[in-house]
Amino acid sequence: MNLSEKIQEDFFKIIADTAAAKKKKVFVIGGFVRDLLLKRASKDADFVVLGSGIEFAREVAKAMGDHTEAKYFENFGTAMIRKGNWVLEFVGARKESYRKDSRKPIVENGTLKDDQKRRDFTINALSISLQKHNYGELHDPFNGLNDLKNKIIKTPLDPDITFSDDPLRMMRAIRFATQLNFTIEENSFQAIGRNKNRMSIVSRERITDELNKIVMAETPSTGFKLLEESGLLKVIFPQMDALKGVEVVNKNAHKDNFYHTLEVLDNVASKTDDLWLRWAAILHDIAKPVTKRYDPKVGWTFHGHEFVGAKMVSKIFKQLMLPQNEHMKYVQKLVLLHLRPIVLSKDTVTDSAVRRLLFDAGNDVDDLMLLCEADITSKNEAKVKKYLQNFKIVRRKLKEVEEKDRIRNWQPPVSGEIIMNTFGIKPSRLVGEIKTSIREAILDGIIPNEFEPAYRFMLQQGEKLGLTVRNNKLN
Ligand code: ATP
Ligand code: MG
Repeated sequence: MNLSEKIQEDFFKIIADTAAAKKKKVFVIGGFVRDLLLKRASKDADFVVLGSGIEFAREVAKAMGDHTEAKYFENFGTAMIRKGNWVLEFVGARKESYRKDSRKPIVENGTLKDDQKRRDFTINALSISLQKHNYGELHDPFNGLNDLKNKIIKTPLDPDITFSDDPLRMMRAIRFATQLNFTIEENSFQAIGRNKNRMSIVSRERITDELNKIVMAETPSTGFKLLEESGLLKVIFPQMDALKGVEVVNKNAHKDNFYHTLEVLDNVASKTDDLWLRWAAILHDIAKPVTKRYDPKVGWTFHGHEFVGAKMVSKIFKQLMLPQNEHMKYVQKLVLLHLRPIVLSKDTVTDSAVRRLLFDAGNDVDDLMLLCEADITSKNEAKVKKYLQNFKIVRRKLKEVEEKDRIRNWQPPVSGEIIMNTFGIKPSRLVGEIKTSIREAILDGIIPNEFEPAYRFMLQQGEKLGLTVRNNKLN
């Protein structure tokens, strides 16, 4: 097969000309070739050079002109050139051998075939020649083209060797299966189960990078089901694995929270590309296994799973090396609040309850509603319709109360400064107490969310606490 028509970007010509001038053999290989054949857009391309990748990249950078941005990583024998939006990587063809305790191989110079053998999957081992005499010719030593057609992920060598050498490849297998909607060939999939404990030699960051790619796929549940089935999930994320299973007492079964969570995740994924909102879906019921009780009168309960779950978020983020920052707090908040909107659909609900949710959720209230709607996974269509209708009512109430009271971005109408100035007091617990009482009065609807009423309320509160007014702004 010749693909010269398909590789039109101008850098291919520069690289091919440089290769001819310097008498080097160069091939484009890996993800770029795979995605070209799948008609998927890509923004990075990897080049294998017989000889030194760095030396060759220097020549290419020279040919591209003075302003070319290039980086050389002598320790790794690789080089990177930026060309427009493209990232081009150069490496010398290599042969790798592995030790038991590390995924960093011993590297020697090798042939193109050696280099293709060290690739993770047959579909990632395809290369295209950039030599003048056979420019555009596809090299496919492991029948990757066939696997592309049949949508199969398969290791080029014995999967037990490929996975044991670099266990990250097991995550990559599942990630590609999820992103591309491919099937992992049976023997390769079985090998994941056999090698799962080798994950211990892979850094947490690399594992989580792959996990996040699964989370960001169009249908992330595909990846989590494969992780669970292969046994990898239990190794890398046991809390999620623990969601699985159904217990039955007196013929009462609860739902399988693993599959429920995956449905919620897919629902959220169909509405948003926000990684953290997707993580909130993954974690919203994470404390169900630890809060599960059977009550003979009411059946299965998971009391407090939202509180316990919010607490678990930080530990899980640490364990997965996800960031300990505002993203984590956001996920925590959504987990904590995910049951609150349900209560607000009742007819008898007061404006005050609506204000409190607006206050607690702040600007994340729309995301919270999206999560709650995604959380409806009943198979009973009438029920789904009813619940969705209820959330419509909640959305309306939230909108009405917000328009009236502006609580989402709430800032105290009377500041601590003003309180101290009015009563001539220094920063102290009293100031905090007065501030809290003003906030509570606004949320309870005792006073409107405005300066003057809040100020008058503050004067009364001060009086009750035995303070003397030194400075009254209203006089
Ligand atoms: P994507 O860019 O979508 O992550 P990709 O296949 O291009 O997919 P990269 O990580 O960019 O993945 O790697 C480029 C190529 O390098 C792969 O196609 C594969 O041939 C090879 N490769 C990457 N990681 C590994 C690995 N852990 N083991 C073996 N080969 C790998
Ligand atoms: Mg790539």
